[in-house]
Amino acid sequence: MQESLNNQNTQAIQLTADEIRDICRQAGADDAGFVEIERQALAPEKVDILKIYPKTRSLIAIAKLINQEAVQSPATNIVDEEFHRSYDDLPVIARRILRRLNERGVRGVVTPYAFPMDMNRAPGKVWDISHKLVAREAGLGEFGLNRLVLHPKFGNFIGLLSILIDSELDRYDHPVKDNPCIDCKLCVSACPVGAIHHNGQFDFMACFTHTYRELMAGFQDWIEAIVSAKNVAEYRSIVRDSETSFWWQSLTFGHGYKCVNCMAVCPAGEVPIENYSPDKKAYVKQIVKPLKEKSEPIYVLAGTRAEKTVRNNPNKEARIVHSPLRPTSIKDFLDGVTLLFNPEKAENITLTLHFVFTGEVERLATIKIENKKMLVLDDHVDKPNLIVTSDAGTWVKLVNEEISTFKAIITGKLKVKGNPLLMNKFKSCLMK
Ligand code: SF4
Ligand code: SF4
Repeated sequence: MQESLNNQNTQAIQLTADEIRDICRQAGADDAGFVEIERQALAPEKVDILKIYPKTRSLIAIAKLINQEAVQSPATNIVDEEFHRSYDDLPVIARRILRRLNERGVRGVVTPYAFPMDMNRAPGKVWDISHKLVAREAGLGEFGLNRLVLHPKFGNFIGLLSILIDSELDRYDHPVKDNPCIDCKLCVSACPVGAIHHNGQFDFMACFTHTYRELMAGFQDWIEAIVSAKNVAEYRSIVRDSETSFWWQSLTFGHGYKCVNCMAVCPAGEVPIENYSPDKKAYVKQIVKPLKEKSEPIYVLAGTRAEKTVRNNPNKEARIVHSPLRPTSIKDFLDGVTLLFNPEKAENITLTLHFVFTGEVERLATIKIENKKMLVLDDHVDKPNLIVTSDAGTWVKLVNEEISTFKAIITGKLKVKGNPLLMNKFKSCLMK
């Protein structure tokens, strides 16, 4: 019975990988590759992929060239226009490919390029599928230090999209053997918030807060500024007229990215490197310098390394905003608290907290802070400095500053065993 069900759900090979690659190229893709659903590297995405299309047996990754010259322009509206036009092109190309496959008996689903995402899952994993991961596995490139997929020929100047199909193919692709990243560190130097570290670490919050200011990261903050301002003068003291105009433009013409410097400066790949290798100094002068010297506001969270980085660059203005990530549940809190951790505030802090969450969610957890790093563990581990017992809903409100620690304690929803000042120390290590 099970076997016959599987046979119904899985198409036999209708087309070879080479034939599909030809179809992709004829439809307008600049490159394409294929991955089987069972690939181990796709395991973290598999549940979400099968949720979108339970019949998925293979994934087609397609790449479309983005105009490097436009992306390297210091004019943000030119860069955004280039991105939006590729947002328009890629799904059209993907649908054209799927249509051709349909004619040959292969069924499937085109996934969204970037948006719409599943905002029901915010602030967690709102994207259904990581096109970057699929593209890497499909041999379209390797991750560079800037965390973008670097195509061997086109470098990071590509848009990526995935198509899920119900057929198994005769053969699949695999990650490229040589990483095109030349370790030039230009992405490190061009990042206005210092998000890319030399050692490969990445400060997600620093990039997210600035680059996505006009997307979901800042929209909530903007709405709250409108709602909480007592009058027009107060609103204008928080949100500049130019910023209100940006919101109008984002909502009308499509969202704008505040920064793509790490993509713009990257010389990796056969084509981009032709502009870099012959005269590296000239490349830095023409491409990197104008971005670093561009006078612009940069959105940062108070007291972070990103704020320090911006204040050290006389061409940039630090605009302090609120954290775009707010947990809505204990799961969100435990999954995302390391993103909110601010190492700048954890100098000389060594702390082990045991949490006992009660009420709607019953859960035990340990959070350790040591050497400017935060670790979240299930259950209770090691000897605690503080034991926090809290009603789950109250804890979420407390982290979001919707209720004070004092109020939570006197209403009996929060109990601490140990020095209560350590609670403040812990909270001071979280970005707001
Ligand atoms: S997009 Fe901008 S802020 Fe984000 S990592 Fe790249 S250079 Fe830094
Ligand atoms: S800019 Fe240089 S270091 Fe950064 S990803 Fe590109 S090649 Fe690698």
